[in-house]
Amino acid sequence: MFEPVSLYKCDSYDYDEVSGVLSKALSDIDGLSFVKPGMIVAIKANLVTGMAPEKAGTTHPQLIKRLCQMITDLGASVVIGDSPGGLYTPVFVKNIYRGCGLTSMVEDLEKELQAKGSKQTVSLNEDFSISDGTFDGKSLRSFIYTGWLDKVDAIINVSKLKSHAMMGMSCAVKNMFGTIPGATKPEYHMRFPEEMAFANVMVDLNEFFKPALYVVDAIDGMEGNGPTAGEKRHIGAILASKRPYALDMACADIINMGINDCQTLKAAYERNLGPKDISEINVVGDASILDIKVLDFKRATSHQSINFEGGGLFNKVKSVAIRTVFNTRPELKKDECIGCKKCFETCPAKAITMVPGKNALTDSESKASQIPQIDRSKCIKCFCCQEFCPKGAMKVHETNLAKVIHKINQGR
Ligand code: SF4
Ligand code: SF4
Repeated sequence: MFEPVSLYKCDSYDYDEVSGVLSKALSDIDGLSFVKPGMIVAIKANLVTGMAPEKAGTTHPQLIKRLCQMITDLGASVVIGDSPGGLYTPVFVKNIYRGCGLTSMVEDLEKELQAKGSKQTVSLNEDFSISDGTFDGKSLRSFIYTGWLDKVDAIINVSKLKSHAMMGMSCAVKNMFGTIPGATKPEYHMRFPEEMAFANVMVDLNEFFKPALYVVDAIDGMEGNGPTAGEKRHIGAILASKRPYALDMACADIINMGINDCQTLKAAYERNLGPKDISEINVVGDASILDIKVLDFKRATSHQSINFEGGGLFNKVKSVAIRTVFNTRPELKKDECIGCKKCFETCPAKAITMVPGKNALTDSESKASQIPQIDRSKCIKCFCCQEFCPKGAMKVHETNLAKVIHKINQGR
């Protein structure tokens, strides 16, 4: 029923290894059969912030390089892009390209193509126009998106497997949020503060754009305080599929998560778009999920692993108790804060004010002259502040009891 998921072991970003593995992974599912000579294909990467590839927060350039070569060999040209968090302007985004290692990679590819006398091109997106979209989705009706995607013939979504504070996991489905212009992303958290409504925005974006192919960079993923401030975790796989939902279920299973840990999986299942569990997935390739599985992959938060379904007074009381135990929230690690105000500027609920670093907080060890203070009554727990803090100073706080339960849960 669901599109097969291709899963191959890949132990490093060594070009020869990535090249061989990606070719096999795509060949197994006939992944590039839609590419025709003369086409322009968009690679929608995960470039959430300008972090170096070895930090494992963004799609690795080596994977994108090989994919570009395979597409140009079929006679099509490629444009690579994303709308990171922050401004969607040429200066801002070009810095992100550079930071993610894409600028030099594309320059090398252009030289390669010129040397071959090829007519095809590979470029980084420089079109920062905005388009209006309408869609009869579950959450989305009218919205704006990055206009470069209107000028291509097909989209390939190339994501990174990471933990995510709000959604549980960031992978193929979540990667389409990068079609929303950076500065307007926080508005979506205000419009859809409830987790399932926000997850349905992600599913709507996938159904609106319908990428022709999805590839996941799971060679090195990010665990813990993801999607930008966690730690690199070696996983050792490349995955691909023509649809994102079974693919994300496979990725979730690899990092020891399931439908109750990841809201986008749940949203897709409730819309009959995705599987309920891993047993419904057809995995092809040279590896099984059990070969790759990372049982102790650290989550950003554990509260999604609890199922709140069910009526009746007992279930309601149980639900309130569970919510109290698993009440996650953003919390500042003062000694890591540099006072850059990014969280203050990003917060969609205007719940953050900047206060004097030393005087206002009695136990402050902050070196910054100003640090953020969160008004908990306004906070909608979107975790944008955590996602976009360049120093990882904003953490996901769990209660002590939740930490204990989380540890037991991961050891199961
Ligand atoms: S304080 Fe952080 S989590 Fe709370 S609303 Fe603002 S950005 Fe979202
Ligand atoms: S918490 Fe992070 S984003 Fe906010 S001011 Fe400190 S360093 Fe900047």
